[in-house]
Amino acid sequence: MDRAVFLDRDGTVIKDAHYLSHPGKIQIYKGVIPALKKLRGKGWKIIIGTNQSGVARGYLSLETLAEIHENLLSLFRKNDLKIDEIFFCPHHPKDRCHCRKPNLGILLKAAHKYRLDLKKCVVVGDKESDILWGKNGKTKTILVLTGKGKKSRAHLKTQPDHIASTLPHAVQWMLNHES
Ligand SMILES: [Mg+2]
Ligand SMILES: [Zn+2]
Repeated sequence: MDRAVFLDRDGTVIKDAHYLSHPGKIQIYKGVIPALKKLRGKGWKIIIGTNQSGVARGYLSLETLAEIHENLLSLFRKNDLKIDEIFFCPHHPKDRCHCRKPNLGILLKAAHKYRLDLKKCVVVGDKESDILWGKNGKTKTILVLTGKGKKSRAHLKTQPDHIASTLPHAVQWMLNHES
């Protein structure tokens, strides 16, 4: 059984542009690529899980979302970083789907596909819904203070295992605490 880090996309890996709908507008946070390369070097799989209700709301099409994700993956590839997969939920909260975080759809699908032991996995995100997502799946959880992170910290009802200022800091904590 393998382990993976599950990364939220907006506000965690890339700058949170409100309902990002332009593939050219992706900005990966500073230090994220080298940090993730270190993690991969230690055998971690890297998976992105993102709620994209902008699709259901009509702000962007599935084709545009696919293009954004292809661009993001190619930015990583150009830097010799492999991301295993980007899973997304395109639904509206009112759809009550199984895949919208903090529901378990994406975690379970990824765990099955990549043979992951969720207890050895870590979720990193900037919102309480990311922390709940990890708790629901029995992963470890890290809140980052980028994106909506500072606001989220002020109203947390569920405590993460760790709070890190940025994703590279979260990765450093993971590397220091791995068994
Ligand atoms: Mg986010
Ligand atoms: Zn969904």
